[in-house]
Amino acid sequence: MDYYSHQINRLVEELMGLPGIGSKSAQRLAFHILNMPKENAEKLSNAIIEARNHVQYCKECYTLTDNELCPICSNDRRDHRTIMVVENSRDLAAYEKTGKYEGVYHVLHGAISPMLGIGPADIRLKELLMRLQKEADEVIIATNSSLEGETTAMYISKLIKPTGIKVTRIASGVPVGGDLEYIDEVTLLRALEGRREL
Ligand code: ZN
Repeated sequence: MDYYSHQINRLVEELMGLPGIGSKSAQRLAFHILNMPKENAEKLSNAIIEARNHVQYCKECYTLTDNELCPICSNDRRDHRTIMVVENSRDLAAYEKTGKYEGVYHVLHGAISPMLGIGPADIRLKELLMRLQKEADEVIIATNSSLEGETTAMYISKLIKPTGIKVTRIASGVPVGGDLEYIDEVTLLRALEGRREL
């Protein structure tokens, strides 16, 4: 990419660091940004900086939020005794979009993967167990149906079962290896309703 100036190369390289963005897409985005009115480009970069500076983990469920508690955890009308365990904040958003789930969440920020060297201590499992010491009727494990998601689900169920708290797993209507966020709302609801006890 020597035919671009240093500044353009820098922008392209930064964009290539994003997931799913190859060299071609990065160049397309870079030129799109460079052709934007200056104020729009500033808005974009400010949005990134401000979000990055203000967003933190909810101290209850560990989703990304800009307050101490996320809007779901701070909502009294939600059922705080039913906790759905998801891999990331995008999966939480997918279930929220259905508008039918009334419980709260716990975001692991990953899944156990011996192949990638990600163990139980690398995800927010300890935090989940701490939470369960307070109050919980049911833990719904909604990790992906990938190998990592299933490994994580089994691990969590083994940990929680001795506590006597009900542990359920969403039905496997969810395509294998499919990212929850790409699955339509009807399928998600069916998976939730069809959950079975582990
Ligand atoms: Zn929260």
